[in-house]
Amino acid sequence: MLKRVLYVVWVLLAGSAGHLLGLPANAQSPVPLISSFETVPAANQWLSPGDQLHVRLIGQPGAQVTFLNGQRLVELPPVQGKSGIYQGTYVVQPGDTLHDRPLEVQLLTPDSVLEVAYSKNSVRFMDPAMPQLAVTRSALSYLNYGLGEDRLGGAKMGYLDSLVVLHLTGRVGNQYRVQLAASQQAWVPEEVVRLLPPGGFVPASLTGSWSVQGDSLYDYVRIPLTAKLPYRAQLLQNPTRLVVDVFGATSNTNWITQRAGVQELGAVYYEQPQPDVFRVVLPLRHRQSWGYHIRYQANTLVVQVTRPPAKLRLRGLVVAVDAGHGGTNVGAAGASGAREKDLTLAIAQKLRRELEQAGARVVMTREADVSMEISERVLLLRRQRPALLVSVHVNSASNTAVQGTSAFYRYVAFRPLAAALYQQMQATGLAGWGLVGNFNFGLNGPTEYPNALVETAFVSNPADEQQLISPASQQQMAEAITRGVKDFLKETRADGLRGWLGKKPALEAK
Ligand SMILES: [Zn+2]
Repeated sequence: MLKRVLYVVWVLLAGSAGHLLGLPANAQSPVPLISSFETVPAANQWLSPGDQLHVRLIGQPGAQVTFLNGQRLVELPPVQGKSGIYQGTYVVQPGDTLHDRPLEVQLLTPDSVLEVAYSKNSVRFMDPAMPQLAVTRSALSYLNYGLGEDRLGGAKMGYLDSLVVLHLTGRVGNQYRVQLAASQQAWVPEEVVRLLPPGGFVPASLTGSWSVQGDSLYDYVRIPLTAKLPYRAQLLQNPTRLVVDVFGATSNTNWITQRAGVQELGAVYYEQPQPDVFRVVLPLRHRQSWGYHIRYQANTLVVQVTRPPAKLRLRGLVVAVDAGHGGTNVGAAGASGAREKDLTLAIAQKLRRELEQAGARVVMTREADVSMEISERVLLLRRQRPALLVSVHVNSASNTAVQGTSAFYRYVAFRPLAAALYQQMQATGLAGWGLVGNFNFGLNGPTEYPNALVETAFVSNPADEQQLISPASQQQMAEAITRGVKDFLKETRADGLRGWLGKKPALEAK
């Protein structure tokens, strides 16, 4: 209803504009010549010199259409009988200025009827002489690869510590574009960062000389910088190594001092693949990596590498168990009324008893029907330092025929844990739905310890739902997950016996 009222007002305005310009009487036409004009994508944008600004107009066919003071839009050939679709591109030039304004478009018909319209969204042209910087807000900040979205958010490039300085060169909707290096970009959601006043220096640093050492818990690499630069880490396989790219950093590392206490790090070194990308390469001594954590201490980048547990067995091991959902977050529901949050808690509690009977110390993210954000769970686990994590969920699909069990991991380094759990879950008689990698789930995000998500079965499938609500089947699932963890430890142990990638360094021999 509101739309129609606005439409009438708009036609009146358009008509009077035509009248003022002394155009012919058909400027009073009741049909607007421009039915829509938008930026593509249709979102508020910030652009830098060299970026392309795309616009699309739908209106009267056969017209001449311009935006940004004369830039032409081109009419496309009719698509499925639809004509009057125009597209235009403007390449932002150095010195262009535009301060969060809607774009104006002008349409001129062969009869010299002029109509003007404005985009709903605003555009800013950024000034490279006044760099726009921002800092990350929390120790759970992250970068995205692109503007993609799905139920669990866009594909994440990795996590960042708080107060990391980012150089923003663009914006689309609620994400800023981050210039990591001359040839590398990422995106960051606006809520993750705090903007600084424009005009700061683009973050850059020479690297100092490193120290490598170990304490009773972890191995550490410390790299002094003069600013908290963004970084990206990846755990690579064959051979197992942690590779950390530090963006905006250039080597002045003239020695790497390796001190006592190192247990997991092998022969560390660096590369400078690009003038502004400093690559830290940390070979690990075990085939199965146990994870890492990166943070800043003042402006020193600290890479903390987790060692595999001294004894690869459940006795004495700290195992984290996460019961998915809870409180107001009910999760999926079955036809009989079974709720995911209750099923996950029931299975997690049985899993806890099984693990404790095997001698493990169990850390639960929740033990009752309480609401708990994913971020709260991640921070709790970061404090508790478990040796590994299993998150228990219940799957659901709109197609009620879909059934079976599945396991999910994010990083390929943690695939063996998910694979072992998946195998044992299938051994209970549940159909195998799949082993899923690169999964963008919050509790598959931590890099500090191996972690996996078990989607026990589909509550949306009647047969699976019967299993999920049966205490005896829940017990079987808890036992299967416990066997899966044991298998993972056993396989890791066998891997260790088959051979380490490097001998213990002489420094530690004493
Ligand atoms: Zn769930």
